Amino acid sequence: TETAGLVDRLLTAAMVRIEDNEDELGRLDAVAADGDHGLGMTRGMRAAVAAARQAESSGAGLSAALLAAGTAFADAAGGASGALYGVLLAETGAGLSGDVTAMTVADAVDRAVAAFVELGKAQPGDKTMLDAIEPFRAALREQAKTDAGVAQAWSAAAKRAAQAAADTADLLPTKGRAARLAQRSKGYADPGATSFALLVSAIGDELE
Ligand code: ADP
Ligand code: MG
Ligand code: MG
Repeated sequence: TETAGLVDRLLTAAMVRIEDNEDELGRLDAVAADGDHGLGMTRGMRAAVAAARQAESSGAGLSAALLAAGTAFADAAGGASGALYGVLLAETGAGLSGDVTAMTVADAVDRAVAAFVELGKAQPGDKTMLDAIEPFRAALREQAKTDAGVAQAWSAAAKRAAQAAADTADLLPTKGRAARLAQRSKGYADPGATSFALLVSAIGDELE
């Protein structure tokens, strides 16, 4: 994988996917919470892309560009998901050095998910982003044990994330704002799990 400008290219694809789904993410977040997830994600992704572009045009590699993107995302997006996505991006960057292979990416994602859980303290089944993130992480790890290339591995994991995000409709939220009106969210997917699936799917499409 050619890495010059790669973070800009991948995050731009992700940003466009989020922009296209901003209203839907807002509607999902309004079911049992404050309705700002679409807006926050759009703001966050625009800032992340700008920061990655700036960093890469000054010669930053993958790791530094992702770190800049994560910091910018958290500052611009705000909210619970802003800080959480910021950590995911930054720690993925911190875990990536050298070659980009399915194995090195799986290692970086493991590290990022550990930091994410440390910050958010969610557990599987709490109806949060983690319910899409953990299946993605596990699928990527499985793929990395085969001889799959990074694009193929990522896309397979993204498919798992999309299914897992849809499956959160059956869960009841116990973390975040939606926990107070948990019953209302029955039948609707978690907004953060949905945005995560959109992000990783867009990145997978761009990698292929
Ligand atoms: P806010 O709730 O501050 O308005 P957003 O609407 O942007 O933030 O994000 C809501 C999403 O954040 C939820 O759908 C859920 O996926 C995720 N989330 C909230 N709290 C946590 C947590 N403690 N751990 C993991 N994910 C969380
Ligand atoms: Mg919200
Ligand atoms: Mg909010």
